[in-house]
Amino acid sequence: MLAVRGLQAWYGESHVLHGIDIDVNQGEVVTLLGRNGAGKTTTLRSIMGLVPKRAGSIRFEGKETINLRSDLVARAGIALCPEERGIFASLDVTENLMLPPVVRPGGLDLPTIYQLFPNLKERANSPGTKLSGGEQQMLAIARILRTGARLLMLDEPTEGLAPVIVQQIGRTIREIKARGFTVLLVEQNFRFAQTVADRHYVVEHGKVVDMVPNDQLASSMDRLHEYLGV
Ligand code: ATP
Repeated sequence: MLAVRGLQAWYGESHVLHGIDIDVNQGEVVTLLGRNGAGKTTTLRSIMGLVPKRAGSIRFEGKETINLRSDLVARAGIALCPEERGIFASLDVTENLMLPPVVRPGGLDLPTIYQLFPNLKERANSPGTKLSGGEQQMLAIARILRTGARLLMLDEPTEGLAPVIVQQIGRTIREIKARGFTVLLVEQNFRFAQTVADRHYVVEHGKVVDMVPNDQLASSMDRLHEYLGV
């Protein structure tokens, strides 16, 4: 579904990505692991078309998107849920859900979303400001399910959340996968990553240095320890 080859990216003169190679197959959940500053967020932002200076190849469903603007990348069916979540404080839950434009057929309708996220249904009329961190993260994920995006990119969805909420996010991601969505996520929480993903890429200094299938994660701990300091 997604094939990234030799992706490079710059912020001004600063060369941040030095050749990222990633494949994500339809229906998979894939993580990007790596230390702070390794280039994980920049990889997601580059795929989304949000980093102006980039080179290499990003093919989505067979079409080259490296030169597309972010709105056209969104129309192609890719969505990014950024680390800061982007919930509008002055809008209530339903208004936040209805805000992003539908870019493709096949998104979930509001009743289905509320069935998947009963907590959000209970808070349907609460303004964004009144939501907990976990509810905001759920809303940020729920919102992109409506748009028809097929590849959901989530940047550190568990950051700052209590363990019980992290488990809920894990259940949500597994349910999304069961419904045929494809997920590429940045994670620092190794244990969480293990409960949701099919495969893991390790990013270091702007390059992919390793790929580990989830069932080999435990036996690859020594190797990963070196990269991640876990
Ligand atoms: P983190 O978990 O800390 O977000 P990361 O692996 O996602 O880490 P990136 O955020 O992609 O890393 O950052 C990669 C490098 O690019 C870092 O050296 C960072 O300082 C730099 N960088 C990130 N955003 C910008 C920006 N807007 N302008 C200049 N440099 C940036």
